[in-house]
Amino acid sequence: MGSTERIKNVAKRVAKWHDAGHKIVVVPSAMSGETNRLIGLAREIMPEPDQRELDMIAATGEQVSVGLLSMALKAIGKEAVSYAGWQVPIKTDSAFTKARIQSIDDARIKSDLDAGKIVIITGFQGVDEQNNITTLGRGGSDTSAVAVAAAINADECLIYTDVDGVYTTDPRIVSEARRLKRITFEEMLEMASLGSKVLQIRSVEFAGNYKVPTRVLSSLTDPMMSLEEEAQSGTLISFEEENNMEQAVISGIASSRDEAKITVRGVPDRPGIAFQIVGAIADGNIEVDMIIQNQSLDGKTDFSLTVPRNDYARAMDILNTKVKAQIGAIEIIGDNHVSKVSVIGVGMRSHVGIAAQMFKTLFDEGINIQMISTSEIKISVLIDEKYMELAVRALHKAFELEKI
Ligand code: ASP
Ligand code: MG
Repeated sequence: MGSTERIKNVAKRVAKWHDAGHKIVVVPSAMSGETNRLIGLAREIMPEPDQRELDMIAATGEQVSVGLLSMALKAIGKEAVSYAGWQVPIKTDSAFTKARIQSIDDARIKSDLDAGKIVIITGFQGVDEQNNITTLGRGGSDTSAVAVAAAINADECLIYTDVDGVYTTDPRIVSEARRLKRITFEEMLEMASLGSKVLQIRSVEFAGNYKVPTRVLSSLTDPMMSLEEEAQSGTLISFEEENNMEQAVISGIASSRDEAKITVRGVPDRPGIAFQIVGAIADGNIEVDMIIQNQSLDGKTDFSLTVPRNDYARAMDILNTKVKAQIGAIEIIGDNHVSKVSVIGVGMRSHVGIAAQMFKTLFDEGINIQMISTSEIKISVLIDEKYMELAVRALHKAFELEKI
């Protein structure tokens, strides 16, 4: 919600659903740019802000939104009531700036809904055991919305955002990218963890764990568009067993430039080496993604892993100073011009040969694969970043995603 004009539009849209006989809970996030502004203020005072106080500040953006939206609804004749997280309450743990929701009391929400009111609850925030205000991490209002939907057993959770759904791949890379009408929550989870910013990953986990049908749709459409049309728009995150036979084998291609590869060369092939290498990096709070260890030759082997590009220099430093001599490695080499491209699809479970088709497509384009990792519904490859977009385009075509 970028302006009071936009808030009035949200109110119209909500009123439209309410007029059609639905009970509605709305979970807004802060007005556009507001959370950044608040965090900026905090940093002006304290460059590394105290986490509890930071949450106190950051959570206010949502409090403004709920009050304004409630007023906008009242102004058009609807009964509405706004709540901050602590008033519901939405209970979380005490991990300030990245708290996890533990429970949501549905009593007050349900009695307001039964009384015909539209209930508006702050996204992004909660309250811990000691009544401290907490926040759920950036993008956390997605998670608040799905969690509230789960708590009240909602028929559907609609997430209105600035894109009109989930696409087969990034439309900026492939202009033929298609909006998916449905995606399974497992696929969505892979997409979110591979860097798609459509939804906060935890909201997808919630949707999966509590089986909340969740739809991603655009907040930029005409608020008075027909309910039938709106109810079919966007992308529905569904559950595999509900999907029909037409399910495509591959649903999407994800890519991430944010990668770096590090190889520890000539390490002794004995127990504990993987632990020492990966453990040291984990102690530096750096996430390791892909890992390979080669077959050993004369008792020596190479060990490669990938880390987020932002953490590359630090990871190299940790390995050079804390690991190399200790484990007797010959050298540590790195490359921060690599990218990851992944094909995702639950259809892989029932189709063989997807990996071969992927590798052949890359081979046909002359793209060398440096590392591979797979899960039941995903195959990822690490390649030179120069070829990332080419790879995405070629794979999109090879798996005929423009026909979805
Ligand atoms: N306002 C919070 C943020 O900017 C939460 C959200 O928008 O989902 O991260
Ligand atoms: Mg958001």
